[in-house]
Amino acid sequence: MERYLKIIGDAYYGYFNYLINEIMYPSWGNYFWWLVGLSLFVWLLELVFPWRKGQPALRKDFWLDGFYMFFNFFLFSLIAFNAISNVAVEAFNDFLGLFGVKNVVAIEISSWPAWTQFLTLFIVADFIQWNVHRLLHRVPAFWEFHKVHHSVEQMGFAAHLRFHWMETILYKTAQYIPLAMIGFGLTDFFIVHIFATAIGHLNHANLRITYGPFKYLLNNPIMHIWHHAKDLPKGSHGVNYGLTLSVWDYLFGTAYIPHEGRDIPLGFDGVEKFPKTFWQQISYPFKKNKMEG
Ligand SMILES: [Zn+2]
Ligand SMILES: [Zn+2]
Repeated sequence: MERYLKIIGDAYYGYFNYLINEIMYPSWGNYFWWLVGLSLFVWLLELVFPWRKGQPALRKDFWLDGFYMFFNFFLFSLIAFNAISNVAVEAFNDFLGLFGVKNVVAIEISSWPAWTQFLTLFIVADFIQWNVHRLLHRVPAFWEFHKVHHSVEQMGFAAHLRFHWMETILYKTAQYIPLAMIGFGLTDFFIVHIFATAIGHLNHANLRITYGPFKYLLNNPIMHIWHHAKDLPKGSHGVNYGLTLSVWDYLFGTAYIPHEGRDIPLGFDGVEKFPKTFWQQISYPFKKNKMEG
């Protein structure tokens, strides 16, 4: 127990120092400035080449989403995620230790060329995310958390990071075990994470981008706007679940783009009654009497 508490303490202290360092010293290996740079770049593209020409530069909920961005990318990690995940990793290893297992690495890929390791990590991680995303729509308790992301009614890059912190826990937990078995460390995630953030920003942006024939591979704004559509095909829990890659939806028959959908209504049934502020939205899934604030 004491050991776990020490891990929590070290994680807070370590992450706090890391965060201060990130903000104070911009560099190419720095999440904070990558996020700021990518956001400004995609916002500039939206302002110069808007898909919906009438959409204001500061679209509906721009500042709310800006706060979500900062919270989900940084504060949540500072408050909880690093501490929880370090303890979880330690507890997981201790648990395996009970059975005399010292190493969960099932496939040793460190001898492969770097780019194949990298590609494997990217594809496996994205496929796991696609499955988690489907569950967020299918499992009613998960959907209550995921509604926060689907409460977006006007799309823009910042909508990308409007989601409940519980999603971070669900996605990361689902990714950790299989990736640890393939023998990936957390440092391998940096470039994958930056690339996924860029594509995610573009998916939500007010831009008309399809990537031509690569649309079968990469998710894009025209595909993702249908994921946010208020009206779904009859009997379906959702469509276009892809995060970075669109290929899973084409492979498993969940791709749906009936037309360009520039001006389709977004959200879900009853979205107008969904809470409007950050704290209300974050506490919403834990409330018994939902939809009453
Ligand atoms: Zn969704
Ligand atoms: Zn989205």
